Amino acid sequence: MSAAGTRLLLIGPPGAGKGTQASVLSTTFDVPAISTGDIFRHNVAHETPLGLQAKAFMDAGDNVPDSLTNDLITDRLEQADCAGGFLLDGYPRTTDQVRHLDAFLAGHDAAMNAVVQLVADPDVVVERLQKRAIEQGRADDDESVVRHRLEVYQEQTAPLIDLYTTRGLVVAIDGIGEISEVTQRILEGLQTLGVTPA
Ligand code: ADP
Repeated sequence: MSAAGTRLLLIGPPGAGKGTQASVLSTTFDVPAISTGDIFRHNVAHETPLGLQAKAFMDAGDNVPDSLTNDLITDRLEQADCAGGFLLDGYPRTTDQVRHLDAFLAGHDAAMNAVVQLVADPDVVVERLQKRAIEQGRADDDESVVRHRLEVYQEQTAPLIDLYTTRGLVVAIDGIGEISEVTQRILEGLQTLGVTPA
């Protein structure tokens, strides 16, 4: 991993549109989008040992334990395609994960360039996720599980925004609107931090 390259993090409540924007930004910045949720779902679907360990937490809308998640992200970030930067979607989600990521990056003489906070009203995200529950059948999109995921987000993940704000890395973006509009807002926000596509 080189010190150069763009390292971005998308943070926001479930249903804020992180996955959608992650895939657009991955193309724009030419970096891999890494979603811990997608990696976990893949492992659950293939019934790997990791998937078997993660499944009950995911179905309940709880975070998978930090130890499992941190090991997974270390493996992923050490792969060659992350050498020139990456975009994280859904990681870090806890202060323990931030410490882990900090240590990993410091060990590679690297740092995050920006944190994009996607802001969305809880009522809107619940509505979006109900639609997704019907379309995609994700077990954790059941309404009571969604409400719990929002609580877990508020308790464990929202505090990370303050932490990254003190580092001057956060751009807060309104996540409501057309996909392309939100992307445009993100790109403008990133530009204020001097983060632009090559
Ligand atoms: P969302 O952000 O919409 O909740 P994700 O796909 O990011 O959806 O995550 C789905 C589930 O995967 C989470 O509820 C959690 O159980 C697990 N998960 C994903 N990322 C992490 C993480 N960084 N730490 C712990 N658990 C995670």
